[in-house]
Amino acid sequence: MMLTWKNVIDYTVNGNPTPDKRVEKTEKEWQALLTPEQFRVTRLKGTEAPHSGALCTIYDEGQYNCICCNTPLFDSSIKFSSGTGWPSFTQPIKENAIKYIKDTTHGMIRVEVLCNTCDAHLGHIFPDGPEPSGLRYCINSASMQLNTDTNNE
Ligand SMILES: [Zn+2]
Repeated sequence: MMLTWKNVIDYTVNGNPTPDKRVEKTEKEWQALLTPEQFRVTRLKGTEAPHSGALCTIYDEGQYNCICCNTPLFDSSIKFSSGTGWPSFTQPIKENAIKYIKDTTHGMIRVEVLCNTCDAHLGHIFPDGPEPSGLRYCINSASMQLNTDTNNE
């Protein structure tokens, strides 16, 4: 099934899909596993500077996994160049890979996207992406790692 903005709003109102598994750690444990920038973005809901992330301009084939728990989040086939300076995608790799939360910080009403397995902050989603889904997942490079060796999965 292809997710649309209506599905995203439904998730923020009625609850998110159930993930395949959960990974939970303390703030101290995450801090020990991550670089300071990865920790700031994923666990403290930070945003990296546009065009600064290592994955912005990479279009190699593979899967983008959560930097915290290594769960696959996005496939390279649905990555697109949005010109925003952040990696951008039109769909999640699986319907239950991503969690959607209404975000009213900074005087805006936005939808935050998180890893549904470990609650890592990934970025935000907007209804101005390319057809057919019309979705734009705007994701921090620091929240992901690209796994180009997906053959034996
Ligand atoms: Zn995760």
